[in-house]
Amino acid sequence: MSYDREKQVAISAAIVAARLCQQVRRDIPVAMEKKDKSPVTVADYGSQAVICKALGEAFPHDPVVGEEDATELRQLEMVETSISVANYVQELIPEATPEQIAAWIDRGNGTVSPRYWTLDPIDGTKGFLRQDQYAVAIALVEDGQVKVGVMACPALPGSGPEPGMLFVAVRGQGATMMPLAGGQEQKIRVVQADDLASLRFVESVESAHGDQSRQNRVAQAAGITQPSVRVDSQAKYGIVASGQAALYLRLPSPKHPDYRENIWDHAAGAIVVEEAGGRVTDMLGLPLNFADGVKMMHNRGVVVSNGTIHDRVLAALQ
Ligand code: AMP
Ligand code: MG
Repeated sequence: MSYDREKQVAISAAIVAARLCQQVRRDIPVAMEKKDKSPVTVADYGSQAVICKALGEAFPHDPVVGEEDATELRQLEMVETSISVANYVQELIPEATPEQIAAWIDRGNGTVSPRYWTLDPIDGTKGFLRQDQYAVAIALVEDGQVKVGVMACPALPGSGPEPGMLFVAVRGQGATMMPLAGGQEQKIRVVQADDLASLRFVESVESAHGDQSRQNRVAQAAGITQPSVRVDSQAKYGIVASGQAALYLRLPSPKHPDYRENIWDHAAGAIVVEEAGGRVTDMLGLPLNFADGVKMMHNRGVVVSNGTIHDRVLAALQ
């Protein structure tokens, strides 16, 4: 299958969602707290709404497994938030009503199936709030394998005059990036490892999302001498895929030893790196499991590399 239509629909949805997120960010978003204490903004809801609308219209039978849900948004005390979400969505889809928007968001309540989409409307909400990096991540999964991945990184500097890069990959067709504002699409490849001293590694800004001291020890053991570059969101996958770093390490935080990774935090990024010639596994070398549920229960940690240094990194982890 060529997945041409899937790719085009995901690209235009990600571009529209990124535009909405950037508009919210120019107006300085406020953070609300979800039940699990993680932050959410009107942009998370707006982004999920416009993406689910686009996917729902193009592929009405495909389930969408998205991070957000409109239950809290529908509560009476959230009416102002709901109106604010509607105002941003209406800039892009003038006829949208708050009720319709909530229904679009809830299209993201699908379950992991033989064919499904997974969506993180804003990955790295903490980075988004800090005016740092974030990503809009959309992926199509079939029989547990990611087939299409699209990732908009609106704050990532790139080849265009304005910031904002779009990463796209289709299984077997390679990976590309292009400026979000439009411009030249270019094939991307991971960095070659012949010059170890120039290799960099990336990790989360949020220390609670990993084990930074172990990550630094492992990177050094694998031959990387430079200090880490800390970046929020799946933009880290884009940085590895485009050869700007050789390694992304995400080892379980000692503070949250039972944490399991979510599929939407990795699906789009993982295929972009793999199609750019890199490798993605968990810390034991197992493939990431996108087949069984929202949480990757059988994986611990994530190791993303240019491929050539992967086994050395896994060995350093034993
Ligand atoms: P990053 O910007 O790479 O730090 O990743 C942001 C993502 O980290 C969020 O989307 C959360 O789903 C995820 N997250 C939250 N808590 C943890 C944790 N304890 N360990 C790893 N990831 C987490
Ligand atoms: Mg996320």
